[in-house]
Amino acid sequence: MSEKIQAIRGMHDILPTQTPRWQYVENLLRRVMGAYGYQEIRLPIVEKTDLFKRSIGEVTDIVEKEMYTFEDRNGDSLTLRPEGTAGCLRACLEHGLLYHQTQRLWYMGQMFRHERPQKGRYRQFHQLGVEAYGMVGPDIDAELILLSYRLWRDLGIDRTLRLEINSLGTSEERSRYRERLVVYFKEHLDALDEESLRRLETNPLRILDSKNPDLRAIIAGAPSLIEALQEESRAHFEGLLSRLDRLGLPYVVNPRLVRGLDYYSRTVFEWVTDALGAQGTVCAGGRYDGLVEQLGGKESTAVGFALGMERLIELLLNSEALDAAADPDVYLIAVGDEAEALALILAEGLRDELPTLRLQMNCGGGSFKSQFKRADKSGARWALILGESEVLEGTIGVKSLRGESEQAVLAVGDVSSHLTSLLQR
Ligand code: ATP
Ligand code: MG
Repeated sequence: MSEKIQAIRGMHDILPTQTPRWQYVENLLRRVMGAYGYQEIRLPIVEKTDLFKRSIGEVTDIVEKEMYTFEDRNGDSLTLRPEGTAGCLRACLEHGLLYHQTQRLWYMGQMFRHERPQKGRYRQFHQLGVEAYGMVGPDIDAELILLSYRLWRDLGIDRTLRLEINSLGTSEERSRYRERLVVYFKEHLDALDEESLRRLETNPLRILDSKNPDLRAIIAGAPSLIEALQEESRAHFEGLLSRLDRLGLPYVVNPRLVRGLDYYSRTVFEWVTDALGAQGTVCAGGRYDGLVEQLGGKESTAVGFALGMERLIELLLNSEALDAAADPDVYLIAVGDEAEALALILAEGLRDELPTLRLQMNCGGGSFKSQFKRADKSGARWALILGESEVLEGTIGVKSLRGESEQAVLAVGDVSSHLTSLLQR
């Protein structure tokens, strides 16, 4: 026997037992996107490496160490997308979608980052990305937060998530703040770890984002960015908070929230849970006004978020109803050659008449006993039974597979109306 080839570490199959959950969540997300007037955009998984370098920033975890970059046969440097914001904006600029107009868009799909695989952190994972372009005021920031809040409520997990929010100001405000921050951290050099010392030279704000618990006290004492905001940024932030207040949406202002990507400006937010261990951020986003110009567009504004689907699905409680969604309604048992042949015809007829019926047919023969076993295993609620005597009589048996010992014999012509009434229960 030759050696089995296995999947790549950190890249997971989603098996048939798990896909009902995914489909349930995906359908719910799609419905809510529609409810807010957002439209789907589908984007390539591979982009030019420069796109990510220019947008995400050279001194970020993603670009420094997480990208799957390779040369294709032409010698071009390509990268499997580590996130969707850059590609979405690239597509909009390429197709003129931002020309004198606003856009509200979403996309869903795989992202790739070469991280150390662990619970909630994978090398291939899925995100829902939502982006809104061309709207300046805090109303659109509020809308995106409300939209995400509705997702949690509709999924029944709003109580496990809390909203953390901050403002990073404009790039001018940030660079003034950066100077103050550098002065502060230079006074505490011996308390910093190796990574932070490096960040101090390249991207000192990212020290605030450090996951090293030893740095917590020193970070808590650092000057606050919010205090460095000037009037316009302050008004934007307050405008957002007052909208959330009026809607009764609870939040925590976290002045240390900086986000790992360079392109953010003003609003940043994260939805965080304590229920997932170390990987507690389910959804993260903010405003990134500068990115449009940085990617060669005319000055414009942008705000968006990305939601980690694996972490979201992990948060959903175990629910049989959720997992049974893909089970068939009916399993069709047929014993004997003539019964098998008739069953195929009957099944097609039922699918014509009842397009929402989920009917699984026994294939591959077998005795009544073995076919009933398969019927049980299929998760179907009812079995239709076609044997030699039924064929002779022009009848078909119907049996419940869920405890109730209901059984009936019907004329073949009555099956579809009988199933209709059973399905309505
Ligand atoms: P972290 O601080 O956890 O590394 P991040 O800032 O890199 O997160 P973003 O780029 O903002 O994450 O991605 C948005 C969301 O996508 C995260 O909040 C998370 O839910 C999910 N996510 C990010 N990286 C991964 C991964 N490697 N595996 C699974 N989900 C991920
Ligand atoms: Mg990360």
